[in-house]
Amino acid sequence: MKTETLTLTRAPREFQGMNLHPSAFILPPLSGDMKGVDDAMPIGANLRGQLRHNEPMARHVSWRAGGIADCAYSPVDLADLRGFLRTLPADDPVYFVGLGSNLLVRDGGLRGSVVFTHRALRQLRLDAADNEIYAEAGVASPKVARFAALHRLVGAEFLAGIPGTVGGALAMNAGCYGGETWDIVARVHTIDRAGQLHERTPAQYKIAYRTVHLKAEGGRRKAGEIHPSSLILHPSEEWFVAATFRLASGSGEESRGRIKELLERRIAGQPLDQPNAGSVFRNPKGDHAARLIEACGLKGRVIGGAMISPKHANFIVNLGGAQAADIEALIELAQSAVKERFGIKLEREVKIIGEAIGERREA
Ligand SMILES: Cc1cc2nc3c(=O)[nH]c(=O)nc-3n(C[C@H](O)[C@H](O)[C@H](O)COP(=O)(O)OP(=O)(O)OC[C@H]3O[C@@H](n4cnc5c(N)ncnc54)[C@H](O)[C@@H]3O)c2cc1C
Repeated sequence: MKTETLTLTRAPREFQGMNLHPSAFILPPLSGDMKGVDDAMPIGANLRGQLRHNEPMARHVSWRAGGIADCAYSPVDLADLRGFLRTLPADDPVYFVGLGSNLLVRDGGLRGSVVFTHRALRQLRLDAADNEIYAEAGVASPKVARFAALHRLVGAEFLAGIPGTVGGALAMNAGCYGGETWDIVARVHTIDRAGQLHERTPAQYKIAYRTVHLKAEGGRRKAGEIHPSSLILHPSEEWFVAATFRLASGSGEESRGRIKELLERRIAGQPLDQPNAGSVFRNPKGDHAARLIEACGLKGRVIGGAMISPKHANFIVNLGGAQAADIEALIELAQSAVKERFGIKLEREVKIIGEAIGERREA
């Protein structure tokens, strides 16, 4: 049994030295009561990772707020992950979490299991003959950008500005400054609830601005595999374990220059010195969520320990000790103000999971 702690106390190595402010990754030190729920649990002879019960998710999301997860598993590698998924009852909810940079767990906590990818799925390699990079889901996106530039491959620079994992970037179709993750995907590798691995192409997904769904295979519905309300597979049925990115040959120096410029623009325009989860809302067609929220006079509005950033109105920051409910209340406030003033429904980009306090349903 591996006893390595999951706690991050500073920015992951791949984010250091990049002029990217590490605050989004700095986790508070463990308090005495957190240590009490932190014991590693033995989970069977064949599994080598670490299972924790009652894991505080504030330690694993960049907002540094939110409730606990009933179970959290940190596999050591892909084989171990496959083994873990096979131990789970078929109806137990499972959530994959990368660096938690787009995620909030409500204060009442999360039933089911969380799987952390960033300590396990870390392979990153070059296939120079095909201008391809293979990156496992736990690799930090900025690392892929720098690796590509190092090998004189261009087109992945935008990933330098996205402080999550490759898995999170695939799930969100993350992007910035004109680039989107799926623009450069040649194929992906996924895992399902039964621990089976699949290789898939972009054509098998419905891909749009910050959303990605696996299309139903052949349009056939299989019990338990397809979300009843749609013809697309429910995202919780299959997860990304790796991607192969296809890039173009170019100048590594120019690529590094673009990365530097992109990071400088981010530092100038975003409140990176306070815990946040990037842009809270998707930009509505032809407009900017930040402009709409600012026009409603909401910059600097505080609820509990959370605030709509005075620097960038599409960011909500944790001033210290924010509850997930404070953040969610600001989200709802912005949505209702923008709807009332402009008639526009702001769609959330950040994912909110789990139960509010008092909502807990006993099994
Ligand atoms: C300062 C800051 C700036 C940001 N700027 C941008 C930006 O410019 N553009 C942008 O698009 N985003 C941005 N983000 C948001 C975030 O970084 C991206 O969405 C990122 O891709 C999320 O990756 P993650 O590993 O942190 O995912 P998480 O937050 O851990 O998870 C996000 C979602 O992806 C799912 N997921 C994670 N891993 C997997 C997997 N392996 N398989 C399937 N599903 C998975 C989770 O279940 C969850 O639904 C920013 C965030 C911050 C804090």
